[in-house]
Amino acid sequence: MTIIKNTSGFSGVITINDGENIVIDAEGRLAVPSFYDMHVHLENALTLKYTGENESGTLTEAVEKWAKVRDTLSKEDIKVIMKKAIIVELYNGVTHIRTHADTCSKNLNSVKAALEVKEEMRKYVDLQVVAFPEQGVFNCNPEEFIRAIQISDIIGGKPDGEDSEDLGKEQLRLIAEYSLKTGKPIDVHIDQGDELTRFTEYLLSLKQTHVALSHLTALHSASNEYSNRILGLIKKKNASVISSPLTTVYLNARYDSYPKRRGVTRIREMLKRGINVCLGHDDFQNPFFPLGFGDIIQALYLGILLEQIDPVDEVISLITVNSEREFSYATKPSTDDLVILDAKSIREQLSTLASRFMVIRNNKVIAKTNKSGEVILDGNKFNPYSLI
Ligand SMILES: [Zn+2]
Repeated sequence: MTIIKNTSGFSGVITINDGENIVIDAEGRLAVPSFYDMHVHLENALTLKYTGENESGTLTEAVEKWAKVRDTLSKEDIKVIMKKAIIVELYNGVTHIRTHADTCSKNLNSVKAALEVKEEMRKYVDLQVVAFPEQGVFNCNPEEFIRAIQISDIIGGKPDGEDSEDLGKEQLRLIAEYSLKTGKPIDVHIDQGDELTRFTEYLLSLKQTHVALSHLTALHSASNEYSNRILGLIKKKNASVISSPLTTVYLNARYDSYPKRRGVTRIREMLKRGINVCLGHDDFQNPFFPLGFGDIIQALYLGILLEQIDPVDEVISLITVNSEREFSYATKPSTDDLVILDAKSIREQLSTLASRFMVIRNNKVIAKTNKSGEVILDGNKFNPYSLI
């Protein structure tokens, strides 16, 4: 039995029935429920070395680069990439992941790989699989997309990926229809450019199951009057919004000069209205976002800065309780997982961006590290973290 003493926030003592016999002093570190990454593409994380750099930095080039590599990968290749990405996310305290699997992949390899990884990694992570048409439903194979819907947990979409607004709306009608047929919830990449598009308004006018709206970056450019109406509609329909600040701030506003749009949705206003907002990392080390380390805390940190959200001590809910609520529409998450931060407060965690001290799932420590840095001045050693 491992006993972890002197934690704060969650409990002063955490007992793990793991057959070990050790006592760990957490020295006042803060324990919180483990994190959710509510929007990620595990299959193309860490693929920058295969795709090459995104020269223009646009979503269009990122999709083109990814699609070329995607079609050279076998199902087994994709599984290896996904498992590596999951290990990185676990290290950062994420034990619940919603991944979007590309239904335009050859033989639905991305979707099949994701479903197999979900079972093979179940011990370590709760994984949800979204059937996601990266290049649009009608630019790929609509029958394959419907087959993917039937085997996935969640119905995805990308109306902006079609060749016209009419086809985008047709895609949304198809998604809504299949959500009613299958009873599965929807999580759609929607209005994800900078110019104002109105697919959210159209989707929410249709009869369907629960909806999560991913990105919604176009709302950043809407008038306050239009935004006010859409936020009211989102609230009325009880839809969730999932924002991915790291990727959108990289990809969006590429055609702007100065002043530049920020490329994230109106998180702050949504929270004020009581809309359920969650966060995703979306991409890391790939042409959609060439940086990143699968650390959802980085996404939270950037979201707070871009949207000027406060108080910072409460925003952890975007990657914990808000996400749990949205996750639960599709599958039931484990709720006993814990993260012990290498910090005494959320503010300290956000300020230092330190790696997590310990991640615990199913009575097992599945990741650990600690801040052991030193500054040496005239023979005197300081741990800089101790000076905060
Ligand atoms: Zn995405």
